[in-house]
Amino acid sequence: MALRNVLLEGDGTLRKKSREVTHFDQRTRELIDDMFETMREEDGLGLAAPQVGVLKRIFVMEGVEDNEPTAFINPVLIDEKGEQTGAEGCLSLPGLFGIVTRPEEIRVRAQDISGEEFERTYTGLEARCVCHEIDHLYGVLYRDKAEGGLHKLEPEEEQDETETASEEIISAKVADSDA
Ligand SMILES: [Zn+2]
Repeated sequence: MALRNVLLEGDGTLRKKSREVTHFDQRTRELIDDMFETMREEDGLGLAAPQVGVLKRIFVMEGVEDNEPTAFINPVLIDEKGEQTGAEGCLSLPGLFGIVTRPEEIRVRAQDISGEEFERTYTGLEARCVCHEIDHLYGVLYRDKAEGGLHKLEPEEEQDETETASEEIISAKVADSDA
């Protein structure tokens, strides 16, 4: 396993559309292992392959509520219900957050590392995370959807690791505040 470099906004790769994964091989496995390691190192809740410079339809998610580490290959949203409005962040736009409206509940279909298809339903933060990561696969950043633009995280929040632990997706503190 190896840490990969997380691309920052401004890098053109983040604006490109990712390709369908057709080979469920060792290379794909290594990429996913590296993505998990990189996501943990960066304290993210999710990470999409384009963020590490690979234009493949893959994202990983972990650490939202009781969620187990999951890799989603060729994910598609097959259903969405309701609406939630809250704070969101992204490892590719460090130190920032914005208010984004997402579905409250989603159902996602994807393939696992063996190419086996699975479906899951997520609500709340996990639903937000899945939507955010799938957007990355289309070259969409949450800046495009943030109401009233992006804001800087407060310095004291940046210094406190527990408060910025969820920079990719959301700072729980920000989400609870009246920001
Ligand atoms: Zn992101």
